[in-house]
Amino acid sequence: MNTFRENLRAYLEIEKILNEFFNEFNYCIINCIPKEPETTLRSARRGCCNDKYYKLHDLKHPAFELLRQEREKIYGKPPDLENPQGASSCEYHTPEGCRLKSHKSPTCLSFLCKESIDFLRERYQVFGYDYLGIYYALEWILTGDMLGKALEEFKAGCLNMVEKVRERELSDKLITSQ
Ligand code: SF4
Repeated sequence: MNTFRENLRAYLEIEKILNEFFNEFNYCIINCIPKEPETTLRSARRGCCNDKYYKLHDLKHPAFELLRQEREKIYGKPPDLENPQGASSCEYHTPEGCRLKSHKSPTCLSFLCKESIDFLRERYQVFGYDYLGIYYALEWILTGDMLGKALEEFKAGCLNMVEKVRERELSDKLITSQ
């Protein structure tokens, strides 16, 4: 059995891979945020960050508590943070996007809307991204319910998604540069 710190270490390792994935798959910034209705502050780039998702679905579990403590050590406690434009009730939100470069909650880390998942399937032929599936896997990594072979398989699946998105982007760049 892992310690809670080991669970967190495994979670942060998967987060790094998912961050790579989201760096390649820029659906929200390219396709969604520019189309936000006129009534919202476009410059604030709120996107789907319209609530305190960093804690909204957290389990009462020591590994979630550890994640919160480590997050607050690095990025500060929510009540101490300023969110000048107030486009989102999330204190970690800024006009430039999320302050959290790591230590996001499973909800923040996994969420993709239906439109972006459709886009992922159509453009990149990535069929393995299911929001709830990824969400629960992240939750189980934190609670220690996903370990060993299952964790390795999940990690390999995440790496495979990064590879597929990267390959498609690279091949498009090559075509446009010819
Ligand atoms: S913590 Fe970041 S990703 Fe999560 S709701 Fe706030 S701004 Fe969005």
